[in-house]
Amino acid sequence: MRSSSPLPTRNPRSVRRARLLIVDDQAINIQILYEILKADYDVHMATSGEQAIAFCQAHLPDLVLLDVVMPDIDGYEVCRELKAHPLTQSIPLIFITAQNNPAEEALGLEMGAVDFISKPVNPAVVRARVQTHLLLKFQSDTLRSLAFIDGLTGIANRRYFDELLHREWRRAQRTASTLAVVLIDIDFFKQYNDTLGHLAGDDCLRQVAETLSETLQRSHDSVARYGGEEFVCVLPETDMDGARAVVQMMHSQIAQLKIRHPASPVHDFLTISSGIAVACFPQNQSPENLVALSDQMLYKAKAAGRNGCQSAML
Ligand code: GH3
Ligand code: MG
Ligand code: MG
Repeated sequence: MRSSSPLPTRNPRSVRRARLLIVDDQAINIQILYEILKADYDVHMATSGEQAIAFCQAHLPDLVLLDVVMPDIDGYEVCRELKAHPLTQSIPLIFITAQNNPAEEALGLEMGAVDFISKPVNPAVVRARVQTHLLLKFQSDTLRSLAFIDGLTGIANRRYFDELLHREWRRAQRTASTLAVVLIDIDFFKQYNDTLGHLAGDDCLRQVAETLSETLQRSHDSVARYGGEEFVCVLPETDMDGARAVVQMMHSQIAQLKIRHPASPVHDFLTISSGIAVACFPQNQSPENLVALSDQMLYKAKAAGRNGCQSAML
């Protein structure tokens, strides 16, 4: 799996069928639940704890129906394993159990399961509980993704960038690749607001955000609003030549917007300045150092007269 991105995709989850995983070592038990749920959901099956964990890591189901008693890895162990990893910890789990034992039930709920259903299962109860927990899951997914979106521009926000950068940094360390960070700042934006008004300024920020995100071609590249009129890009597996090419394209796409900036001393139209920093791995510096270097490069681009780009290797 490439990413545990919490940002919503352009195709919201509500338009696809929910993906369920049924885990039971007895094929007949899986069959019973499958018959109950197959009409409404995209149902997958696993016959061991090991298979269940592998499926969850690879396919991130929306809900798991999990047998407690299984040979080798039992349901509790699967639950512990899924809850221990950030990628899988928010997948809701319902234990399916033949034991009618309140102490066992309490243990499962304490471990993070959302519910218990006892065997033999009642089809109407299974359907109702699955529906309820999926609704809660989609609501919490939506809230989580909103926490990572900038309200004005609709692109990722600073919090998302911070998480993403650390994730990509770790990945680059593992794969010994390169990672580029680009900071972009609109030139003389204070004057833009002062001459054209704050609403025009907001509109301009939206256009710049949209243009920057449309310029990014590779699916792993991201742009976020870093602060006021500053944006930041994370470009995994990108070397200096690659980063310069992306940034050059951004400058030219912004120029093509031809947003009039009557108060700009450098141009008739809105311009940006940018700072690129690239890290090669293995690397013993920190992601914060990479961002600080791109900030220094941005400052240098401003000092050199704006409407340009400066770059450095970490
Ligand atoms: P420089 O070329 O050195 O970057 O100059 P600048 O004027 O762009 O930089 P400065 O940091 O002095 O001003 C940034 C301006 O960005 C000031 C602030 O009013 C504006 N700004 C920040 N956030 C927003 C926003 O959400 N909406 C609008 N309309 N303006 C914003
Ligand atoms: Mg600024
Ligand atoms: Mg600025």
